[in-house]
Amino acid sequence: MTRSISIFGATGSIGQSTLDLVRRDRDAYRVVALTGGRNVAQLAADAREFGAELAVTSFEDCLPALREALGGTGIAVAGGTQALIEAADRPADWTMSAIVGAAGLAPGFHALRHGRTLALANKESLVTAGPLLMAEARAHGARILPVDSEHSAVFQALVGEDMAAVERIIITASGGALRDWPLDRLAEATLADAGAHPNWDMGQRITIDSASMFNKALELIETKEFFGVAPDRIEAVIHPQSIVHALVGFRDGALMAHLGAPDMRHAIGYALHWPDRRALPVERVDLAKLAMLEFRAPDMARFPALRLAREVMAAGGGAGAVFNAAKEVALDLFIAGRIRFTDMAPLVEATLDAMSREIRLTDAMDGLETVLETDHLTRIRAQDLGLSMQEQTA
Ligand code: NAD
Ligand code: MG
Repeated sequence: MTRSISIFGATGSIGQSTLDLVRRDRDAYRVVALTGGRNVAQLAADAREFGAELAVTSFEDCLPALREALGGTGIAVAGGTQALIEAADRPADWTMSAIVGAAGLAPGFHALRHGRTLALANKESLVTAGPLLMAEARAHGARILPVDSEHSAVFQALVGEDMAAVERIIITASGGALRDWPLDRLAEATLADAGAHPNWDMGQRITIDSASMFNKALELIETKEFFGVAPDRIEAVIHPQSIVHALVGFRDGALMAHLGAPDMRHAIGYALHWPDRRALPVERVDLAKLAMLEFRAPDMARFPALRLAREVMAAGGGAGAVFNAAKEVALDLFIAGRIRFTDMAPLVEATLDAMSREIRLTDAMDGLETVLETDHLTRIRAQDLGLSMQEQTA
C-alpha cells in the first residue's frame, strides 16, 4: 500500500535526507507536497523526480522561476506563506516538518488537523508553542513523532516503558565547533569558525546554534514539552563523539541509552517507518574502534544559553516564544556580521528582560495567533536591542 507524504522544508538538510530514504523505496510513497525557499532549482528537480502533486516556495518572488521550471509537468505550483498553509491542508498520511525557525509552526499545526502523523524536526514548534501543539495533536487524534536525534533517542528508549518510572532524561551535546576554544577568544569567533560542526552535517543555522549551545537550550525545552517531564529531571551532558544521543534514567537506577552513528537518517527513518524498525543505510557503530566515549558536564560560563533555557522552562507560558524569536534575531545579526558570537546570549537575555516588562511571560499562550504575535513583537524588540548593542561594540 502506498503512503501519501508531504515534506515541508524539502530542500534543506533534513528534507534532503528524508527524500534520500524515500528514493530508496520509491514505489511505497505518493508525494503530495514538497516545499522549499529560494532554492528553486532543487525544489523543482525534487518535485519532478518524485512526481509531487504540488511544489511550494515560501517566497512569492520565487514563484515565477518555480512555475517556469515545472512548466508542462502537471505539477501544481504556489508561493508564499499562505500557500504553505494550503499545502499543509492537503491530507497526507505522513508529514515531515523540517522548515527551519518559527516559520515552520503554522504548517505543522495545519498538518495535525488531518489526524495523521507529523514527523517533527522543527523543534521551534515545541519551544514556542509546545502545549498548544500537543493539545492540537490530541484533539485531532494525530501523532507527533520526534525527529530531533536526541528526542528520537529518548522516544526509542521509552518503548514499552511506563513514564511514571522515569526519573530523568539526559540529552547529549557534542559541544559544537568551539567546544575547545579558550573562553577569552570566543568573542572573536567568525561565522566560518562557528559553522564547522565536528560530527554532524546540518543546516547553517542549527550548526551555529550548536556552537553557542542554543540548540541544546532549545532541545531542553523541547524535551520538557514533548515528554512532559519536569525541568529538574532533564539534563544536558557534553559528549564529544556524538554516538550516544540520549539516555533515559529509571527509578531503579537503570539508564537506557540510544547509540548510533551521527546521521539524521536514523531519526528520520525511525519516524518514517514507525512502529516498524526497518533497515537503514547508516554507518554501523564499531565500539572497539571507538574505544572511548567521553562525557562531561557543560561549562555554564561558556554556554549561558543553557542557563537561559532553565529560566525559560521555569517561566513557561510565552517565554519559549520570546526566547526562540530573540535567538533567531541574534543569530541573524551574528550571521550578518553585526554582533559578535558572544553577544548572542546577552542579546537574548536582554530581550527576555525587556519583553517580561511588556507582557506577562508566564501566562499560557491561548492560541497560535498569540504565539505568532509574541514572536513578531519579540523580533522587533530584539532587533532594536541588537542594533544598539552593535553601536556600543563598533
Ligand atoms: P536547512 O536550513 O538546511 O533547511 C531549511 C528548510 O526550510 C529549507 O527547505 C528552506 O528552504 C526552508 N525555509 C527556510 N526559511 C524558510 C521560511 N522563512 N519559510 C519557509 N521555509 C523556509 O535546515 P535544517 O538543518 O534541515 O533544519 C530544519 C529543522 O530541523 C530545524 O528546525 C532544525 O532545528 C531541525 N533539525 C535539524 C537537524 C539537522 O541535522 N539538520 C537535526 C535536528 C533538528
Ligand atoms: Mg538535536
